[in-house]
Amino acid sequence: MLKGKTALVTGSTSGIGLGIAKALAAQGANIVLNGFGDADGPKAEVAALGARVAYHGADMSKPAEIEAMIAYAAEQFGRVDILVNNAGIQHVARVENFPPERWDAIIAINLSSAFHATRLALPAMQAAGWGRIINVASVHGLVASAEKSAYVAAKHGVVGLTKVTALENATTGVTCNAICPGWVLTPLVQKQVDAKAAALGLSNDDAKKLLLGEKEPSMQFTTPEELGALAVFFCSPAGNNVRGVAWNMDGGWVAQ
Ligand code: NAD
Repeated sequence: MLKGKTALVTGSTSGIGLGIAKALAAQGANIVLNGFGDADGPKAEVAALGARVAYHGADMSKPAEIEAMIAYAAEQFGRVDILVNNAGIQHVARVENFPPERWDAIIAINLSSAFHATRLALPAMQAAGWGRIINVASVHGLVASAEKSAYVAAKHGVVGLTKVTALENATTGVTCNAICPGWVLTPLVQKQVDAKAAALGLSNDDAKKLLLGEKEPSMQFTTPEELGALAVFFCSPAGNNVRGVAWNMDGGWVAQ
């Protein structure tokens, strides 16, 4: 379905980003990966699906590096047709204890990076008359949890950016939508499981159950594969008139 299209997925050396990159690769898209840590493993996983794959190590908190990454993607494959703004970090503390430098980093990586990548990728999509921008927000783009001020502020911002981008391009072939996962068992969430286990003297399994039980009625983690399938739907012809939605995949979290 996506043969000949190129997808750039930020923060795709791990977790949800890698799951979405693999789902788009399985549909035939060329993939540009980004993120920290080992890139060879993720590149091999994507290439094994028959996709052409490239990697750029831009730090998403740095606008000049984001610009270089978009230029690199265009150099490699012609242009970016699908942009998935996924890179993100977390820090948990009450507002009065929240380190200002952690606030700045979360706003830069989880929110401003999506603005920069979007503004830089849009012109080529508009010229081509087709494009898909998918912002990985969170249930925390729709509701709040204590001790996540920067994350919740950033993710609500991402949902707002999604709606504005969708509206500005509503008469074109460029759509913009957000995905709002509940708990997904990636390294980002495993750290929160570990913190709970240590604080309460629980096993890893009991800490996971507690985490799910507090928020997610299904008592199941959403998987990167499920989120990848939603991203594929947004890119499909049936997704043509889906514009500006914030679609939660959260085991009922936000329904409560
Ligand atoms: P993860 O920690 O597994 O992956 C994060 C990715 O972002 C990694 O590839 C990492 O290298 C990259 N990254 C971090 N800082 C970066 C930077 N400055 N520049 C470039 N890349 C950077 O986390 P994940 O759980 O897969 O999270 C992916 C996205 O999904 C995030 O935006 C997160 O907020 C969101 N999300 C996660 C969950 C969850 O339960 N895991 C739920 C809702 C939303």
